[in-house]
Parts: sequence; C-alpha cells; structure tokens
Amino acid sequence: MTTIKRGESAVMNTYKRFPIVLESGKGLYVYDENGKCYLDFVAGIAVNTLGHGHPALADAVAKQAEKMMHVSNLYWTKPQIELAEKLVNKSCFGKAFFCNSGAEAVESSLKLARKYAEKHHPEKYEIIAMESSFHGRTFGAITATGQPKYQQGIQPLLPGIKHVPFNDFEALKAAVTGKTAGIILEPIQAEGGIIPAQKEYLQKVRSLCDEKDILLIYDEVQCGMGRTGHLFAYEYYGISPDMIALAKGIAGGVPMGALLATDKAAAGFEPGDHASTFGGNSLAAAAACAVIDELFEKNILDNVKKQGAYLTQKLHSLKEKCTAITDVRGVGLLQGIELNVEAGPVILTCMKKGLLLVNAGTNVIRFVPALIVGKEEIDECVSILEEVLLS
Ligand SMILES: *Cc1c(COP(=O)(O)O)cnc(C)c1O
Repeated sequence: MTTIKRGESAVMNTYKRFPIVLESGKGLYVYDENGKCYLDFVAGIAVNTLGHGHPALADAVAKQAEKMMHVSNLYWTKPQIELAEKLVNKSCFGKAFFCNSGAEAVESSLKLARKYAEKHHPEKYEIIAMESSFHGRTFGAITATGQPKYQQGIQPLLPGIKHVPFNDFEALKAAVTGKTAGIILEPIQAEGGIIPAQKEYLQKVRSLCDEKDILLIYDEVQCGMGRTGHLFAYEYYGISPDMIALAKGIAGGVPMGALLATDKAAAGFEPGDHASTFGGNSLAAAAACAVIDELFEKNILDNVKKQGAYLTQKLHSLKEKCTAITDVRGVGLLQGIELNVEAGPVILTCMKKGLLLVNAGTNVIRFVPALIVGKEEIDECVSILEEVLLS
C-alpha cells in the first residue's frame, strides 16, 4: 500500500491534501518520500519561523527533552517564566498565558474579555468580530470567524458574537452597544485574503474601545512573531490592543499558543478561571525562547523588512507581465497576490515544479516563507511562479 493510501484509510478525512508525503527539510527546502526537493513558501502556514532543521532550535528542543519535557502547571518551571519575561519585556503587555494553538489562544482572549467585563461591567458580554476573518476551529473561535463556509452544519454557534465589515469604522461603531465587552480583529487578515487593516481604522477602533472600556483583541496568530518585520503586528501599526493571541510561528514548529494581555485586562482571570494541561510546558517554552533569541541575535526582523520589500517588488514586476494578477498586497513576509482565476490549479502546478505555496481564499496566493528567507530563494520562487502563470 502506498503511504497516501495508508493515510486515507487511517487518518480522519478533514483535509484536502496535496498528493505528496513530506519527510525532511533544511532551511527553506523540504524533501518528499521519493527524495524530490521543494522550495517551501508555506512554512507550515507561517509556522516554521526559522525554516526547517534549524540547529539552534533543534538543539534547544533536544536539550530540554532530555532534562524535562512536562510537569503540570501546578508547579513553576523556568522555561515558561523565561518565555513570559521575553514576551512581556518586548511588548506593551504585562502578562502571558500559554496554551497550544491559535484557536485556544483566541478562546482564551474571548473568555478573558467576558471575565474582565463580569468584574467591571456585569451587563457586558458581547463580542464583535470581523467579516472575512479567521480565528480557528473550536466553537468560540469558529463563531468569531467571519466566514460562513466554516460554520456550516455545526450550529448552534456560541451566542453573543456578531460580525461587521472589516476596515469599516462606521459599521463597527453602529454595532457597539452597552453590552459590548470586546472587539476581535486580525491586524492583517490572513486566511481571508491578505487584507491589512488601515491605520486610521485601528486608531479609531482604539479610541472607541478606550471611550467605552471595551477590550480590544488582536488575533496575531499569523501576522505576529516577526512576520511584519516587527516582533508583533501591533508595533507595525503603532496602535496597541489590550490583548494579542499568538501561535503559529511562536515556537518555530513546536505546538504552542499564547495570550498576552495588559495587567489591567489580565486581572480579569483569577486562579481556577482558565487552564491548559500542556500550556507553556518546558519543551514548547524552550523552543519558543530559542526562536525569540534567534530572531534578535541574528537580526532576523531586519531580514523580514528587507526580503519582504524585495518580494513585494518582485511580485509587482510579475504583475506587470502577467494579466492574471490583479493585486499585490501584504506586509513584510505576509504577502498575497490576487488572481482573476482560481489559485488552486496554479498552486498545484507550482508544486509539480518544486515550489510549495498556499492559497488564502479562492483567488489569492499567499507567501509566508520562513523569516530567514534570502534573495536567491525569492528569485527562485517568483521565477517558478512566472513560468506557471505565463505558460
Ligand atoms: C491559523 C490561525 C488561527 C488558528 O490557529 P490553530 O493553531 O490552527 O488553532 C487563528 N487565527 C489566525 C489569524 C490564524 O491564522
């Protein structure tokens, strides 16, 4: 039996997968079970911050695995404290909560918004989220997700969450009521098609939240952890929320999520209010510490700014040559091109030619390579894409 047939028979059928089996990787490249090499501009969907097989990350994980992987959050552990300090010291936030995924970080943020409201404004519980957003697959997160296709057949959803169009302040203002506890948005919508927030919009949202003591939550699961050329996407905009949800790239491939909150917001949780068995365990925390250290010691954020600008420029020149591309947009190494055809077949042909890409909605191809990507790899990516689009 082929590996794929074995997978189809034993793994639950929830993903539409490409017909390759990936086995190993180094830097920006991955290899399938037949030894075929692919240039990886998916990076686990913005997860492999440092690429594949990174020695510092592999070493940190191996050392921690030998020492101790996990104890309960009944006890303190140093890697978790160190990671919390790094995140808090490099941000405007006062406290970190650790979990295992983006959805779980979003759930944590929704619970904290309601817990905070319970203490300060007991009449408030409503959350306003954005159309075309993506927040994950658990019930709270999928309810906040503003894309009905993900919500089919699982109703009833969580009560108390409503949606407004993204980047439309008047619509948001009109939706806010005396019951609004929190507003959640992605500073750069990723799955929804690489749609950056407008700065003036975020400024107005921030002022509105201040005026009404509504907690502002940024879902930085995809756009955070260096992807904009700043450690956090809120720094790119210069407009701070009350909480951010993190996951994907935070531990470079080891499953981890985090919620960062201001001291004021974080005080909404008391012992017993929220927990996660694996959250912030020593193995994941050591991996995340290694990722953050590497980002700063090797000036990787500068590389993101530089290569992000180069990729943008290359995609704009490709757009000049190729009528199928109708828009180029994004920030840093979270870029997208919109096509006037479906992205799927283009991505499949690129894969056959040794380039891995992922869509963001039906017509957008997304570029989220490891943050250590170099000029040559961008050249190779765009040249394969050009060959496919112009053929
Ligand atoms: C991927 C993603 C999530 C969900 O993360 P999981 O780890 O898959 O639960 C949430 N929000 C955003 C913005 C994402 O990109």
